[in-house]
Amino acid sequence: MSAQDGATLYIDGAWSAAGDGATFAVTDPATGAVIGKAADAGAAETREALAAASAAFPLWSAESAYTRADVLARAHTLMLDRAEELARLMSTEQGKPLKAARAEVGYAADFLSWFAEESKRVYGTTIPSRRREQRFTVLRQPVGVVAGITPWNYPVSMITRKVAPAIAAGCTVVLKPAEQTPLCAAAVFEVLHEAGVPGGVANLVTTSRPAEVGDVLLDSRAVRKLTFTGSTEVGKVLAARAAATMKRVSLELGGHAPFLVFDDADPVHAAKGAALVKFLNTGQACICPNRIYVQRSGYDRFVAAFTERVARLKAGPGLDPASTVGPLIDADAMAKMEDQVADARAKGASVLAGGERAGNGLFFQPTVLADVTPRMRVYREETFGPIAALIPFDDEDEAIAMANDTDYGLASYLYTTDLARATRVSEALRFGIVGINDINPTSAAAPFGGVGDSGLGREGGARGIDEYLDVKLVGQVLG
Ligand code: NAD
Repeated sequence: MSAQDGATLYIDGAWSAAGDGATFAVTDPATGAVIGKAADAGAAETREALAAASAAFPLWSAESAYTRADVLARAHTLMLDRAEELARLMSTEQGKPLKAARAEVGYAADFLSWFAEESKRVYGTTIPSRRREQRFTVLRQPVGVVAGITPWNYPVSMITRKVAPAIAAGCTVVLKPAEQTPLCAAAVFEVLHEAGVPGGVANLVTTSRPAEVGDVLLDSRAVRKLTFTGSTEVGKVLAARAAATMKRVSLELGGHAPFLVFDDADPVHAAKGAALVKFLNTGQACICPNRIYVQRSGYDRFVAAFTERVARLKAGPGLDPASTVGPLIDADAMAKMEDQVADARAKGASVLAGGERAGNGLFFQPTVLADVTPRMRVYREETFGPIAALIPFDDEDEAIAMANDTDYGLASYLYTTDLARATRVSEALRFGIVGINDINPTSAAAPFGGVGDSGLGREGGARGIDEYLDVKLVGQVLG
């Protein structure tokens, strides 16, 4: 059996269908066409996956770091060998333009190689004691079975960003991907299988009923860690439930990124950067700027350059080379775009580009709203779509205050050529990530994560593996 036959459950090293044979349809958001089916797991299959992960833990956690590293390194090579196939599947299942899908596969593979290396660097420490005869040693040990829950917007890299550090640390995993993108998840697990990840170490449970599977994962005492990427709303519910069994939690949640353009920066250069990162993944990325603040003296030049660039973007199917922006993921996302634009219009914003659906289906025109104010929904809510909100400001203090006027705290950006200002503002921004003249401040080698309602913990970088390790103090008195 292979993942392609609707048998997308990967449990204990083997592909299978749901116990009752149930499947759910997977569609292409660009056309609405059914492109495949996935196994629709429930509580029983989730328990099987948990049993497999629990059984595999003693052996995998005792395995040498070099063996774990070799497996991940093979997965890295295999994923790159298969990059084109994976990127095409991603464009079809999730909608992003092929170029962006190729970039995501590269980013996803980076986590495999980064954590292959990091597995060899799980160092302990020794601590001097006040007593001559006493020794303190600090060990870092795998937390145990991990439950991973991932979103649809980055359907390959969000999986490797969790599974790679978990298995590098010696943990075993049960992963539940988003119901919109189970086929990408199965393709990642095919890579892990072929790379030689032993049975039970990494398990995949696809479902159209996330709460049913999620409840089993969250209520299980065997699961010692929840790692979740998705909305703040769902993240809070899951974190509360995880508290009953005192699981460790990492939460990568929503964002509401500010993008500050100071008058010492070239407004045309800043407009180019803002347009690139705003419409990344059709605006469906947690690091997309949601509020673009421009200092008043440069506002008109910025608005003109930005609007001209946005008007050139073309919404269309991801596999069409002419498309620079893909479809939205579903009808709810479309309704949110229409509501945010209508609300902003009614409260006095001007629509300088787009503002409407683009033809039939789930395409929305890349949109520019000027003179947005704090009373508008787009100013407060995570948009998660192709709408750019522009807001003028007068001075640095006002810009910082407005940027920080949100409960979210993931990514933030500023454009300036003044070195002291860059330092001052980056220190004052209450966000987990700041890009200074940099629209891509992310890498597998760097810590990614937010503060406030954007979540807890960091993924990637040297700290990424810590999320999967417990610290144990061993004190010894020499006899
Ligand atoms: P979502 O919260 O609706 O879903 C995320 C995952 O949670 C999916 O797998 C879904 O099936 C699952 N889920 C939903 N309800 C559940 C339940 N009751 N029990 C168990 N699982 C449940 O989010 P989404 O719409 O898929 O993703 C978009 C959100 O993700 C945005 O808010 C975005 O900002 C955020 N995101 C954050 C990051 C980050 O790194 N901070 C990265 C990507 C996306």
